[in-house]
Amino acid sequence: MKGKEIWLGEVTNEIVEKWSERFDKREDGYYCKKCGSQIMQTTCYVSVYFEEFRGRDAGSGEVRHVNYPYCPKCDGELEMARACVYERRGAMLGGLR
Ligand SMILES: [Zn+2]
Repeated sequence: MKGKEIWLGEVTNEIVEKWSERFDKREDGYYCKKCGSQIMQTTCYVSVYFEEFRGRDAGSGEVRHVNYPYCPKCDGELEMARACVYERRGAMLGGLR
């Protein structure tokens, strides 16, 4: 393991869309608004839990992979990120992918 693993807690589509807003988009990529470093990406493993079982964290066992952008200087070197999302059981096909 070269970097650390972080836990992002519960995420939603809106939260995931806002990840890139922390950074400055330029022609050749994203840069940190604070320190100017070029942004790196790691994988965020998002466990899908059923809304109906909130608190017991039961789900289908499905884990989605989404790109997680981070600043290697401000956030540190990340190996991976983990998070969870709550979805209604009948809505498994929609939402965060
Ligand atoms: Zn930074």
